Amino acid sequence: MNLHEYQGKELLSSFGVRIQRGIVAQNADEAVTAAKQLTEETGTGWHVIKAQVHAGGRGKGGGVKLAKSLDDVKTLAGQIIGMDLVTPQTSAEGKRVHQVLVAEDVYYPGDSEPEEYYMSVLLNRSTGRNMIMYSTEGGMDIEQVAEETPHLIFTEEIDPATGLLPFQARKVAFDLGLSGAAFKEMTRFVTSLYKAYVESDSSLFEINPVLKTSDDKIMAVDAKVTLDNNALFRHKDLAELRDVREESPIEVEAGELGLNYVDLDGNVGCMVNGAGLAMATMDLIKQAGGEPANFLDVGGTADAARVEAAFKIILKDPNVKAILINIFGGIVRCDRVAQGVIDAYKNMGNINVPIIVRLQGTNADVAKDLIDNSGLDVLSATEFQEAADKVQEVLS
Ligand code: GDP
Ligand code: MN
Repeated sequence: MNLHEYQGKELLSSFGVRIQRGIVAQNADEAVTAAKQLTEETGTGWHVIKAQVHAGGRGKGGGVKLAKSLDDVKTLAGQIIGMDLVTPQTSAEGKRVHQVLVAEDVYYPGDSEPEEYYMSVLLNRSTGRNMIMYSTEGGMDIEQVAEETPHLIFTEEIDPATGLLPFQARKVAFDLGLSGAAFKEMTRFVTSLYKAYVESDSSLFEINPVLKTSDDKIMAVDAKVTLDNNALFRHKDLAELRDVREESPIEVEAGELGLNYVDLDGNVGCMVNGAGLAMATMDLIKQAGGEPANFLDVGGTADAARVEAAFKIILKDPNVKAILINIFGGIVRCDRVAQGVIDAYKNMGNINVPIIVRLQGTNADVAKDLIDNSGLDVLSATEFQEAADKVQEVLS
């Protein structure tokens, strides 16, 4: 589960990580009130207006703007709220902005130049350990840094038995070229950032940029936080931060029905039981010249009701030109799945895409008879290849 920048920053701050302070606003008037309050609390003269959507690269897309007066705050917040923000990480349609973060300007002039760094905390799956990844090249696309100047990206792995050790935090500060007060600030920053990551059961923190201000403070200017869904049961307060407006509506609905569904760009809808079979089915569709429109695992207990629910979800996608149902009947009997497909088909009335059903396993022959004699426009198959050929047939 992803958090908004403002939520991520609040989480960091609660663990003692210094952040660029801000207040979230739902409309232009609230933004002005927030700006006034921030000026009182921080003394800031200027403000940054930042679109709150689950996508990075907002600055490039025009979703982060500097306001030098309260009039600016009002105008910019008014422009950004309601816009469909297109960034390198969104689709071409962009993401609708519902709220902005009004933040203090932290790039103020002073004794030294502000510096931007990159820092993330994540799991290194090949070693099974958390690591801190960091770079002097902050504020820019880290993928680009990795490609062009990989020697400027550092990693520090953490032994789960000891946790982050003080010398490791110092090493990070050293590698980033810091000294004096900024060095000390960075060791504190890294230490509390890592604590926040572990205690919130996160799977990713990406802070880009981490800023060294002109007066040697180290703070998080941005915060991308991904929480581990499997640990949300022990973080009820964090689970409440979910913003379903940021998620695919079909995926949200599928989730409520207990279906494991991922929306994809292709034209062949698939309904499968078991993640492995689902992956194989997607390969099969590709081989047959199609592109999967979704990943859908109806689970081990693919009863009639679940089949019907899955059917409805797949048909919500307007790009679907054919549906391949590929079910292995182990615990669930194929004839019950077939009856589910037939019932769902009849309940839905007008389905104008061809459907190919491959049922294999317990009672597969009974299931095939049911489908073939249903009088519905459904093609049945028992072999994998046969199903692929039929997909190819209906697509061409
Ligand atoms: P992203 O584009 O979605 O990654 O959003 P960020 O939160 O990283 O902000 C984008 C850029 O806005 C940063 O890299 C900064 O250069 C700029 N920015 C953020 N906060 C401030 C600020 O307080 N003052 C100024 N002048 N620029 C800021
Ligand atoms: Mn950023």
